[in-house]
Amino acid sequence: MNKHKVAIVGSGPAGLAAAIYTSRAEIETVVYAGEEPGGQLTKTTEIENYPGVVGKTGPELMVAMTEQAQKFGARVEYETVVDIEKLQSEYDAVILAMGASPRLLGVGEDAYWGKGFSTCAVCDAAFYKGKNVYVIGGGDSAIEDATALTKFASHVTLLVRGTEFRASKAMQKRLEQHRDQISVMWKTNLKAIKGERVEQLVLDVDGEEKVVDVEGLFFAIGHLPATGFLKESKVKLDQEGYILTQSASRLAGENIEVVWPTMTSVPGVFAAGDCVDHRYRQAGTAVGMGIAAALDCERWLESVQG
Ligand code: NAP
Repeated sequence: MNKHKVAIVGSGPAGLAAAIYTSRAEIETVVYAGEEPGGQLTKTTEIENYPGVVGKTGPELMVAMTEQAQKFGARVEYETVVDIEKLQSEYDAVILAMGASPRLLGVGEDAYWGKGFSTCAVCDAAFYKGKNVYVIGGGDSAIEDATALTKFASHVTLLVRGTEFRASKAMQKRLEQHRDQISVMWKTNLKAIKGERVEQLVLDVDGEEKVVDVEGLFFAIGHLPATGFLKESKVKLDQEGYILTQSASRLAGENIEVVWPTMTSVPGVFAAGDCVDHRYRQAGTAVGMGIAAALDCERWLESVQG
């Protein structure tokens, strides 16, 4: 009989890595898979940058992680958690790993995942060798993605909806160093995508329609952490809705003692992955955070309940 019971909210890399560790540590583990079982990786095709994984697709990797957790006894419930307090009353500890979703535009891009459309240049830039690609957005991510793409693409065009960048001066300077490979179109909005793969974009350029030929399209218009159900709870979030763990609060400048780096403002509730991290957002970093949360959770349970 397991001594402790933990609920893990989310079944992406952070949640499943945590589940592998807690179930293997003989803590009864239930994973609530949520609205997108497997998380963002299920929208990726080939994986090239997850260490040790070669020749697997995103969905295959997530199935393997799920089976690995189940092998140690974790149970996966295909349910979405809406009430954190209820969960706390039913379990000894909770690990939050709901992830974040890239903001989308709703102009038909959903049909083009893996067919020339991506929201992760770090993941997919290398698939665009010699190609003519477009990036939407004017923030730090958009410039970071555009410059990352210049290593592979023949040309990158940034589409910015307004008349100025939101990106920091430092990132704008980085853009200037690549101006031979990156052009910018201002006051431009994407209206539609055409082709079997992404082949043409229908744009609104300052009120005028323009159709351009493209071979790749990246969105970098921000992310939304899946933390809506926590807004009325005691779990502290930052202004953008990301969960403030002890480590994250400290990094944000709060003068707190970090005893359990992955614990939230609520004792016994831990958090990991993209619902905490707005900087790296990689499967590998999410896995690392999930493992850290599981280890903190296991040690915290021992310390308070024996
Ligand atoms: P962001 O700063 O919120 O910028 C989002 C960009 O997308 C803005 O230019 C925004 O335009 C545009 N946008 C939003 N909705 C749009 C829509 N419907 N249609 C067209 N454009 C739209 O997001 P981010 O760039 O992902 O950055 C998130 C956070 O991570 C920031 O704090 C950023 O500093 C940080 N970050 C830092 C680095 C770095 O320093 N290396 C790298 C990446 C991210 P408007 O400006 O017109 O609103």
